[in-house]
Amino acid sequence: MSGLAAWAAVTALADGSAIGSLSAKGWLVGAVLSAGAALLPDLDHPESTVSSTFGPITQAASQLLNGISHGIYRFTRTKHDANRDGGHRGLTHTLVFAVIATVVTTAIIQTSRSWALPLLMFFFCGLAVRGIMHKWSPRHDALWITGTSLVLTYACLRWTDQTTADAAACGVAVGIGCVAHYIGDAITEQGCPILWPVPIGWKTWYPVAPPKIFRIRTGGRVEMSLVGPLLTLIALWMSAIALHHAGVLPVLDHIPLEPWAKS
Ligand SMILES: [Zn+2]
Repeated sequence: MSGLAAWAAVTALADGSAIGSLSAKGWLVGAVLSAGAALLPDLDHPESTVSSTFGPITQAASQLLNGISHGIYRFTRTKHDANRDGGHRGLTHTLVFAVIATVVTTAIIQTSRSWALPLLMFFFCGLAVRGIMHKWSPRHDALWITGTSLVLTYACLRWTDQTTADAAACGVAVGIGCVAHYIGDAITEQGCPILWPVPIGWKTWYPVAPPKIFRIRTGGRVEMSLVGPLLTLIALWMSAIALHHAGVLPVLDHIPLEPWAKS
């Protein structure tokens, strides 16, 4: 939900720029990519819900990513950084990774739209479904997730004209999803090393986090009864603005969706 809310907010508020003037179809493709990408960073944790998305395939990918992340952490940490394993909340939880994910996605789609876009859509749909259906059993529901993602990808691509999908917008959508994840992690528990490898207080893996009173517990009361509903509301509101800008939903013509806009 945070990935979708972030994508919707950026596209709604960047009206007039390239990312704010996507077609409704291009916007939807970005929304799916961003919602899924908001779970991508946790693939660095083999025990995470998202690592079970496509069963053994994502589990193996997660093991590999965890190993790489662990190695990079050990190699680049200073003696002031925590002496932790570094496999989880390492490389995939940094802005460097978000930029790499943006560039790689753009490059892949630019080189081959015909197969790359459906494949990426399918992958990120899977992550998004896994995240939203987090109550589904991680052990037994990989086939369900795969099936649901296939149907969603097919429906989405049937409706959108994939040849006009903007490769750069797709890349940016993935980057936005990653950043939404970092913000979510930063306000919970132990912070997020977003700024690696910039040294802060002699730490290259400085855990960026707001002051303690602004932090919440994962899955706690504040997240479930306040942050969750608020994000859903923002996602709906911003999506309505973005889609209205894209020329669909003319029914919203007379609703003051943007109280800050001058008429
Ligand atoms: Zn995380």
